[in-house]
Amino acid sequence: MKSDLIALAGNPNAGKTSLFNAITGARQHVANYPGVTVERKEGYYSQDGHDYHIVDLPGTYSLTAYSPEELVAREVLTEERPQVVINIVDASNLDRNLYLTLQLFELGIPMVIALNMMDVARARGLEIDVVQLSQKLNVPVIATVARSGVGKEALLEAASRVIEEGAGPGGPPQIPYGPDIDPVLQEMEAKISSAGLLSDLYPARWTALKYLESDEEIVGKGREAAPELSAELEKMTARVSEHLKKTLDTYPEGIIADYRYGFISALLKSGVLKQKHEADRLYLSDRIDRVVTHRVAGPAIMCLILYILYYFAFSFSDTPVKWLQGGFAALGGLIETHLSPGLLRSLLVRGIIGGVGGILGFVPIIVFIFLGIAFLEDSGYLARAAFMLDRVFRTFGLHGSSFMAYIVGGGIAGGCGVPGVMATRTLRSSNERLATMLTVGFMNCGAKLPVYALLIGAFFAGHKARMMMILTLISWSMAFLVAKFLRTTILRGPNTPFLLELPPYRLPTLRGLVIHTWERAWLYVRKAGTVLLAVSILFWALMNFPRLPASKKALFDARKLAFAARISAPEEKTVAQRSGSPAGAAALETIEAAENRAALRYSFAGRMGLALEHITRFCGFDWRTNVALVGGVAGKEIVVSVLSTAYSMGRTGSEKTEPLGAVLAADPAWNPLVAFTLILFTMLYVPCVVSVVCLAKEAGSWRWAMFSVVFNTSVAFVVAVLVYQGGRLLGIGI
Ligand code: GDP
Ligand code: MG
Repeated sequence: MKSDLIALAGNPNAGKTSLFNAITGARQHVANYPGVTVERKEGYYSQDGHDYHIVDLPGTYSLTAYSPEELVAREVLTEERPQVVINIVDASNLDRNLYLTLQLFELGIPMVIALNMMDVARARGLEIDVVQLSQKLNVPVIATVARSGVGKEALLEAASRVIEEGAGPGGPPQIPYGPDIDPVLQEMEAKISSAGLLSDLYPARWTALKYLESDEEIVGKGREAAPELSAELEKMTARVSEHLKKTLDTYPEGIIADYRYGFISALLKSGVLKQKHEADRLYLSDRIDRVVTHRVAGPAIMCLILYILYYFAFSFSDTPVKWLQGGFAALGGLIETHLSPGLLRSLLVRGIIGGVGGILGFVPIIVFIFLGIAFLEDSGYLARAAFMLDRVFRTFGLHGSSFMAYIVGGGIAGGCGVPGVMATRTLRSSNERLATMLTVGFMNCGAKLPVYALLIGAFFAGHKARMMMILTLISWSMAFLVAKFLRTTILRGPNTPFLLELPPYRLPTLRGLVIHTWERAWLYVRKAGTVLLAVSILFWALMNFPRLPASKKALFDARKLAFAARISAPEEKTVAQRSGSPAGAAALETIEAAENRAALRYSFAGRMGLALEHITRFCGFDWRTNVALVGGVAGKEIVVSVLSTAYSMGRTGSEKTEPLGAVLAADPAWNPLVAFTLILFTMLYVPCVVSVVCLAKEAGSWRWAMFSVVFNTSVAFVVAVLVYQGGRLLGIGI
């Protein structure tokens, strides 16, 4: 039997996920919608022997086509046609939330409203007449408190009743759009329904509205399905637009939005909503805001919060990181004792366990940082930070909305550039948007973290949190400077205004935090098991082939033989005995290590790295680092994986998996200056392949993607050379 589909729709922060979790419990899973990095959350629940399939739509304020979230929400509603949509409305923010409700009405899907956050509304002294609201909208309305599961049963019951009996007679009210729009709207609606344009997906009135709003997606689909009719509808839209421009100096979308808000305002004033008194909670949150968004205290508090976050992330993860690394080493050892030396063993131990294990070993740090970010996000703090930094952003030619793009891209370490680039869609000015997109890559995404963790652990172990804080400040400063540079040269143009609401502070729930953290961490681990695994194997192969030619190999074999003959001589033995160490074996290992190094330099990867040394020696990188950086283009974690493989291959015959950090710290070619330079280079150079592709798509041209490849790498190189040469002049780390 096919189970019924229920969709949860609502504004961000209305409590969708909380409700979803309360309903489905553990019976849920997360994936991405094809082609976009918007999460698709699905779950199941049963009631009275009936199975329900439930999907948590991305939070949106509207159903326009401005963001991937809106497009996805719309697509699920129209293409998968849920039997019922549960619209979650924040009762403490009724006017804004009902805006989406009205748009959902127009899609014609039977609806049940969950009037959520009733506790917050009550604490603020808001009194809502639920019965009246339900009567006026002609849909079931159930009061809920999602975080504690109150009202869940009643809600599900209402939903299943709608599924079984259909929406009641009459349906929700139709919103009038006034004397300018309504006549045209009706005319368009008639034309659309008689031609059946897109009628398998959308109600005719909805399609007409989308034409009037010049919705690119729908107009595009219309053109494809019926070019002539579409042209006619577009002409009608153009006529209304022109008329409105002349008479009211506005656009159809403006009028449509005005009438929706007007409808809501009238509805609420008609007796649905009563405000009793200003609540203390609001007052308290205002008082907190005054400190947290203060011009001077605000940024200081933000830095302090980040420092504390990094401090706990690094110190709490220390032990689990050691366990994981020990575990991988033990696994390598196990394989070693059961497999004879050869390519397969080398692939398993050095290529796979060394490579991917090297990355996975740092997962605990990432999990702790994700947890911290989830807390800052859920509590409402991040919105304050955006609000506070708006002025700074404007100074550098960016926009308040650039903040979220930066955060998503790794502003607090641990994000990802791909959704970061996509988050710029909320920016309407194309130059501000490009400037943001081109600088998001400087943020410290989750892929860079293992590189930082490795090098900080090996060379700056005493100042982990401080280093991480410094790196965060460097990446923001670089992003600001480069944005300013772009906005005063190739991306000139005015700043656009920024409107942002401050959501109330909330105490995040443990369950919400765990789920948010788990989702992100899982995506990270999955990436390690797929893409990174493949690239690690590729680079292992590049480091193993071609093999040393027979003539060179014979030279090393001869040296080993000669050595073996010598240590069996009696006087050598006494030398070894006197020094009290197995000097013979050690010397033999030296020869083997030399052979391995020669083989590595002879391989494809080795040759490439050596060729690059002509340039990279100015910033102190040797050929192994070069190979790692080339690999890092596929994903910056690969820097760790390649270094790990390269350094284990350069060593002796046994496939020892000593932690890479210890190996680097002991290597004379490395010092804190080299490590710091490599960190900066990794931070700044070309964004990984996936983000470059995403950038090309979002910017609408490959020119900008190529620009970012060349520009970022040049910036990285210049900074690396300056830092390395400057450091040497000052005598650091030589
Ligand atoms: P979503 O963005 O719509 O998925 O919202 P979430 O479910 O993530 O909820 C946002 C925040 O509101 C979380 O911190 C929840 O714990 C909190 N929350 C959700 N429902 C309620 C509620 O009914 N009352 C209160 N006080 N908080 C809630
Ligand atoms: Mg959510």
